[in-house]
Amino acid sequence: MKKQFAIIGLGRFGSSVCKQLYKMGHEVLAVDARDEKVDDITNFSTHAVVANATDEKALQALGIRNFDYVVVAIGDDIQSSILCTLVLKEMNVKSVWVKAQNHYHHKVLEKIGADRIIHPEHDMGVRIAQHLASEKIIDYIELSEDYSIIELIASEKIANQSLAQLNIRARYGCTVLGIKRGEEMNISPLPNDLIYVDDVLIVIGHKNDLKRFELEGI
Ligand code: ATP
Repeated sequence: MKKQFAIIGLGRFGSSVCKQLYKMGHEVLAVDARDEKVDDITNFSTHAVVANATDEKALQALGIRNFDYVVVAIGDDIQSSILCTLVLKEMNVKSVWVKAQNHYHHKVLEKIGADRIIHPEHDMGVRIAQHLASEKIIDYIELSEDYSIIELIASEKIANQSLAQLNIRARYGCTVLGIKRGEEMNISPLPNDLIYVDDVLIVIGHKNDLKRFELEGI
């Protein structure tokens, strides 16, 4: 089903979220206070509008309450980011995702009811560090303090064995969600599916269990 999104603030983060959603075929409203930012996104959004996102009337005129998701990607101007989030939640927008600049900004956003708070630089830093530190890990998504999803490259050690033989869930407490082989993607692996060298395993689990699996199991 097509979802409707509004992206407020078209810096590097906001504009890349906007372009990607549009590329995926979604309806995306792009909003920024600066003309040039809006001009730049016109060909990569459904509608692009110049507006001050702290102005309730302006947001109302855009019909913002009808959007499924609104992303507040206002960066340096923390005050505007907070005010805009507050107005959106008061207007009963269902889901408001906000980019936070720092810990204090995060705390305020939490208090005023932001549905999801994003730290893109921090999250990307963690992913890149994981990738750098281990030759086996090619991607890493933090789900919570304790749980993650990682992509690991299969070595000779487990090659030509089935998931049933490897018994990863029982031995390591992790679950294989999918297997990538070149361009092919197996998203519901079966017990008898074989793993080959250089397959990429997408694995979910507790961080300690994933670490153990990475070091001993693959
Ligand atoms: P990035 O790191 O993603 O590039 P940034 O942290 O540098 O972003 P800024 O450039 O500070 O973010 O802000 C992002 C955008 O938000 C800017 O294009 C700015 O014009 C816009 N913006 C700031 N305040 C408002 C507002 N009140 N209403 C609408 N847009 C705003």
